Formats: sequence, structure tokens, C-alpha cells
Amino acid sequence: MTEAQLSHQCPQCGAPVELDETDRIFSCPFCQVRLFIHADGPFRYYLKPHIEHPGTLIYVPYWRFRGNAFVLAPQDTRHKILDSSLLAVDNNSLPPSLGLRSQAMPLSFVEPNTQGLFLPPSVRSAEFKARLLRAIPGLKASSGPRLTACIGDVLSLIHLPVFQSHELVDGITGKLLGPADIDTAGLEQAGSHLRFASTLCPQCGWDLVGDRQSLVQTCPHCDTAWEPGPEGGSRITPHFLQTPEKPALYLPFWNLRIRAKGFRLQTWADLIRLTNLPRALLPWMESTAFSFRIPAFKIRPELFLNLSAQVSLYQPDAPEQESLPRVPLHPVTLPREEAFQAVPVVLGRLAPARKNLFPKIQGGSIKPLEARIEYLPFVEESHEFIQPEMNMAIQKNALFWSATL
Ligand SMILES: [Zn+2]
Ligand SMILES: [Zn+2]
Repeated sequence: MTEAQLSHQCPQCGAPVELDETDRIFSCPFCQVRLFIHADGPFRYYLKPHIEHPGTLIYVPYWRFRGNAFVLAPQDTRHKILDSSLLAVDNNSLPPSLGLRSQAMPLSFVEPNTQGLFLPPSVRSAEFKARLLRAIPGLKASSGPRLTACIGDVLSLIHLPVFQSHELVDGITGKLLGPADIDTAGLEQAGSHLRFASTLCPQCGWDLVGDRQSLVQTCPHCDTAWEPGPEGGSRITPHFLQTPEKPALYLPFWNLRIRAKGFRLQTWADLIRLTNLPRALLPWMESTAFSFRIPAFKIRPELFLNLSAQVSLYQPDAPEQESLPRVPLHPVTLPREEAFQAVPVVLGRLAPARKNLFPKIQGGSIKPLEARIEYLPFVEESHEFIQPEMNMAIQKNALFWSATL
């Protein structure tokens, strides 16, 4: 799958810099500045018009999702890697999706000085994902009870230029779309959604280090970890599972605490009763909280579900650590909001007989409570990485592959 190309002017020296859509760090090859990229809400991009037209330039929003879609029905589990866009307003003249344009054409960030008027989205991102899940390209539609999720590393708004006079014209192809039917009363100027902030350690001033696509950057000088926030770096406390072995790599997982409504899912005992896991109910299970563990990195859908299930059932005891390990930390590329969306399908994956689970959770809901990053150590073998405590293996090429997903 190709990365969308993205261009942005360096906030420090003004040079045009090419970025990948999933970059969390802006890194200028000309003046060497490194900056956190933070957006209020989804990233907003636009495609530049390719034609000249006397009409009003209007940017029309499309939701874009790239990631994994899951459908768990009583008898089967289906998944698909998606890269899809859908029109984010109700209008029959406009193209229903961007097609290949979101992948093939350079994108620019919407900034306060972007010329043109913007049509605000009227379809919310949750509704967009629900529409995607109703008709996943390449998967046959099914009715009846099912658990679904769209879990992406990219959820953004891409704006397509159109020109409106007495008619509506596609600003890329020049194609006539129909009579003018966009209500200009609701149009807005470009706003400011983006902030660039220093990647110097807020605590000691040292340069933070980390992959450009990682949400977590670390300071090797004062042993702290940071993620981009509205005011620059905000401190996070990563947890680490201890091991007597010599790890070659740490993989990040989200430890997610949730609140279930309409059914009970607070303790281990609740989980066993809900899913009919073949385990004896022991007294400690009634008093021990259960939390979900979801990979915080991109990986193929079937591995994503399997890892979530294995690590959730193992419940690693990962304490806070005074100093960060001097071993590579795999980039955190899946935001916590996306990880929370995985909880229902992981629950479905844990249940040996899903048809018994569906009636118990019907009408219920799951709300996110708290998320924290936990790193699990892996030792290296010739073709795979092994988590010794869980005796769990991940093929090396699955991880390399995931870097380009
Ligand atoms: Zn620069
Ligand atoms: Zn520091």
C-alpha cells in the first residue's frame, strides 16, 4: 500500500518538505529542525485544483480510512486491509469517494492561509466507519448478529476542490458535476488545526529520539517518554514487562480499561462468565480487574486479533520503570482512540462460542476509561522474535511488513 505524499512548508526555514501521511514528527532536511505535529481532531488535507475556473473555489470533505476492518459473525471471522474514502456530506452531485486520488496525488495540510471556502463535514467519523463496515469492498455482506471494527492508523479528512458558479465543476478533472447545489451559507474559511512544537525534551532540553511515525518519543538523557500534545510534548509513563532474558526489541501494547454498560465486564470472573472461556472460576478472579491488551503498532489483521487475544489473556504484570531500556522500542503507530475500537472484536475473538456471547452483550455498550502503553520484551531468533514469558512468536517479516502497511 502506498503512502500518500504530503508537502508542508518548514515552519522554521520555509523550505518545502515532503512528509509521509503517518509522520508524527516533522523533520526538515534543510535546517534540521524536528517538530511534533499535533492536530486538534483528524488531520485535514486538501488536493490542489488542477484547472482554472471563474466560479467559487469550494473544498468538499471526504473521510479517509486506512487500516483493518473486522467482521466477526457467529461462525466466522473476516477481515480486510482497507484504504477507503467516502464523501463526508450528503450530496448526490459530488463523487461518492475519492477513488485513487487520495493515494496518487500529493496532499497539503489545510492551514489558516489556504485559499478557498470549506464545506464542513456533516457525516461524523463514527458514521463513516459504520458505512464502511456495512459494505466492505471484497467481503460479502452478512446479516444477523456480528461484531465489527475499523481500526486504522490513518483517519483523516481530505478536501476535494470544486468550482461553483451556476454549475458545479470538479477542480481536478474539470468535469461537469451538475447544477450548482452547494449552499454557500454554511461555508467556512480554512481554520487552524495544526500545531508544530519543539521536540526538545520539555524536562531537560535534550533532543528527543524516536521513529518519525511514532507517537512516543523518548529522552535518553533524563529517561522520560513523551507524546505530542496541544502544547508540545506531554509526558507519558510507559510500563515494561521484566524479563531475565536479553531482549532485542520491545513491542508496544495498549493496556485498555473499559466500562461495560448492559453487561458485566470488570473482573476476570466477568470475562470467563461472559465468554465461556474454559477456565475454572477461582476466588481471585472475582476481585482482579481485567483489561484488554491491543497491539499499538500496525500488523496484519489476523495477527492483530491473535496478539490481542494472547496478550489480553496473559495479562502481563508490567511495572513502571525508573530508566528506559537501551534496547529499540518499536514505534507506537496506532493511536489509543483506534485501539479502543478493537475491544468488541477482541472480546468476540476470546469467546470460544460466539453465538453464546451475542445475546449476553446485545444492547450493551463499551466505553473507554483509561489507556496506557506497555512494552513487552522480545528476544531475537533467526526468523522470529520470541516473547519468552508468554512463549509467543512473531515472524520478523510480519513486523517489517507492518512498517509499510
Ligand atoms: Zn527547515
Ligand atoms: Zn530529558
